[in-house]
Amino acid sequence: LAQLYGPLNQLGYIYRSVNQSLVDTERLLALLNEPTEVNDRPNAPDLIVNDGEIEFDNVNFSYDGRTTALKGISFKVPKGSSVALVGESGAGKSTILRLLYRFYDLGEGEGRILIDGKDIRDVTQKSLRQAIGVVPQDSVLFNSSIGYNIGYGKFGSSPDEIETAARSAQMHDRIMTFPDGYETKVGERGVRLSGGEKQRVAIARTLLKNPPILLLDEATSALDTSTEKDIQKALQNLVKGRSSLSIAHRLSTIASADLILVLKDGQIIEQGSHKELVAFDGVFASMWAEQVSATDDPAPSIEDSMKG
Ligand code: ATP
Repeated sequence: LAQLYGPLNQLGYIYRSVNQSLVDTERLLALLNEPTEVNDRPNAPDLIVNDGEIEFDNVNFSYDGRTTALKGISFKVPKGSSVALVGESGAGKSTILRLLYRFYDLGEGEGRILIDGKDIRDVTQKSLRQAIGVVPQDSVLFNSSIGYNIGYGKFGSSPDEIETAARSAQMHDRIMTFPDGYETKVGERGVRLSGGEKQRVAIARTLLKNPPILLLDEATSALDTSTEKDIQKALQNLVKGRSSLSIAHRLSTIASADLILVLKDGQIIEQGSHKELVAFDGVFASMWAEQVSATDDPAPSIEDSMKG
């Protein structure tokens, strides 16, 4: 019987980790609001990404067939560039990210979403999702070591790779303050991480995954200035050389994006660089003026200024 303990124990461990990952994946998908399944076409090929250029071509979308979530959305994210989505709550920002990740497929006449010229409905979901890194607002942590939580980004990553990713994500020094370094347990039964730290863990994971395309959903909550700086540095390291689409809530991201799309009621109402939009003196310019005047807050939320 004693001989069985080892294998059984290991099985238990595997069961627990598999179970844990399923639970975590579920939570992750719930956060991203995943609905029904999207099916691949028979014999769909894998997506081959060369440049990672994204294009939305006249996209129209409704969740319930009655109310419009997106209307006539067309834009491009050229290779390696960053596009920021801004707009009040319900404007359609998350819907754009969900469609690119294929939580929903566009129907006939609802336009097309292309990556390197290939319609994403025509490739396997698996290969599509392999090419996309997601940094959500609220990252899920496994009840395991901090090292495991970072290494999860790439199967079989070595301790060296994990440390390099953590350094690049501005998390290494913080991890060194934990009692057991990279072996320290985090999550509900271990060291609790702040929102900003969890986001840096997600950034480190994504650095290991090394995808050509990124979807970022910035945290809305205000962060203190030094956390904000760390996150910006981590994000800079992550977005370098990748095509990224971010839901932007903070001044820092908005100012550094290559292109800003201002959404309202599912439509793009203004677009351009930060400089162009400020000069245009429209909706974005007034949002910006309000945020700049709110200098007491290190990370004011853009939504607040759009409500007024
Ligand atoms: P927020 O900043 O609050 O996240 P958002 O700009 O991301 O808002 P979306 O979540 O994309 O906005 O929502 C666009 C529209 O689609 C809204 O009218 C919203 O009510 C609707 N919507 C979003 N998710 C669903 C859903 N799962 N089912 C039905 N309608 C939805």
